[in-house]
Amino acid sequence: MIHELKNKNNPIHRESLIQLAKKYGTPLYVYDFFKIKKQYIKMKNAFNGVKNLIINYACKANTNLNILKFLQKLGSGLDTVSIQEVKIGLKAGFHPKKIIFTPNCVSLQEIKEAVNFGVRINLDNLSILEQFGEYYPDYAIGIRINPHIMAGGNYKISVGHIDSKFGISYYQIPHMKRILKNTGLKIEGFHMHTGSDISDIKAFLSGAEVLFQTAIDFPNLDYIDFGSGFKVPYKKNDLKTDLNYLSYSITKKFLNFCENYGNKITLIFEPGKFIVSESGYFLVSVNVIKHTVSTVFAGVNSGFNHFLRPMFYDAYHCIENISNPDGRFRFYTVVGYICESDTFGVNRKVKEIREGDILCIKNAGAYCFSMSSNYNSRYRPSEVMIFKGKDFLIRKRETMQDLMRNIIDIHI
Ligand SMILES: *Cc1c(COP(=O)(O)O)cnc(C)c1O
Repeated sequence: MIHELKNKNNPIHRESLIQLAKKYGTPLYVYDFFKIKKQYIKMKNAFNGVKNLIINYACKANTNLNILKFLQKLGSGLDTVSIQEVKIGLKAGFHPKKIIFTPNCVSLQEIKEAVNFGVRINLDNLSILEQFGEYYPDYAIGIRINPHIMAGGNYKISVGHIDSKFGISYYQIPHMKRILKNTGLKIEGFHMHTGSDISDIKAFLSGAEVLFQTAIDFPNLDYIDFGSGFKVPYKKNDLKTDLNYLSYSITKKFLNFCENYGNKITLIFEPGKFIVSESGYFLVSVNVIKHTVSTVFAGVNSGFNHFLRPMFYDAYHCIENISNPDGRFRFYTVVGYICESDTFGVNRKVKEIREGDILCIKNAGAYCFSMSSNYNSRYRPSEVMIFKGKDFLIRKRETMQDLMRNIIDIHI
C-alpha cells in the first residue's frame, strides 16, 4: 500500500518511494495521479466564474498514455504540438474536437494529416495560412497571435516577445484578414501562449488585452485560448503564478468582453507544467561519493539523458536523500554519470549521503521524462503511476534491444 497525502509537503511517503525504488529499480519516475487530479480541479475551480471553460492539458509536458487517459476521463481537452502527440491523444480517447494542434514551423503535410484526423488546428504563420486556405477553405481554424510581450521564466521559455518565432504578429492582422478574404477561410478562435513560468501577471493580462482587441472584429468565434505559462513552486518560498489573482482579473475581463461581443464563447487554457510537474518524483541511486579538493560530489545513476531541466534551463529541483532521514545535513553537489558536466544541483544541503542511498528529485512530472534521450547509450527509465494507493508500471525500462532496434548492421 502506497501512502498518499501523508502530509502536505510530502504527498507520497518517503518509505513508499523507497519500496518502489526496490521493486522497480532506479532510475525511476513515479507519478502521483491524485496530485494530477488535484491540480486539474484547482484550475477548473479557479475559473468557475466562467461558464464555458475548457482546460486543455499541454501534453508535451508528459505524454505517457495513462496520464492522457486519466485527464481525458476528468474532462480535460488536449493541447498538442506534433502529429505524433495528436495520435497519442486520439489513442487516449480524446474526441478530435477536444484536441488542438498548435504546431510551429511544421510542414503543410503534417497539418494536412491533422485535418484528416479532424482535430482543431491553430496556425501561426501567414505563409501556411495562405496555403491551408487554398486546400481547406471550409476547415475553420484558430490563429496564434504574438502579442509582443516579454513573459516567461527565462529567455529560452519565453515565446511571445517580438523576436520570437511563435505566432502571427498582431501588426500583421491586416495582412491576415486579406488572406482570409481571398481564401474564404473562417476563424474559430484566437490563441496566445507567451511562455512558461510566468510570475508577472501584468504581462499575461496585457497579452489577453491584445487578444480581446483582436477577437472583437471577428463575430463568429468559438473560443479564445490564453495558452499557459502557469508557474508552480520548485522550492520553499519560490515564486508561483498567483492563480487567484489571475483568475479574478481574467474572469472579470473575459465576462466584460463577452458582454461586448454578444455571442457565446469558450475560454481555454492549456496548462502543462501546472497539471503534472508536482506529481512527479525521480528516484536515483548514489553510485559514488567523491571528495575533490573543493567539493563533495554525490554521483548518481542518471544524468541529463533522463533529466535535462537543471542543465538546459538552470532549473532548480529539490533533492532529498530518502534513505537517510535521520542523518545530519551536509553539503553536496549532485551530479550524473554522463561523460560531460551534468549537474543536478550545486552545493545542496542534503541529509548525509552514503553510497547506495536513494535520492528523490522533486517536480519531476513535467518536461522530465518527455525530454529524455539515449545519450551515452543509456536506457530510458521506467515510469510508475500511483493511483488509489496502488502502484502500476506504466512504462518499461528500455533494454539493449530498444537501443539497437532501428540500427541497420551493414557488412562491408
Ligand atoms: C508548451 C505549451 C503549453 C504549456 O506550457 P506550460 O508552461 O507547461 O504550462 C501550452 N500551450 C502551448 C502552445 C505550448 O507550446
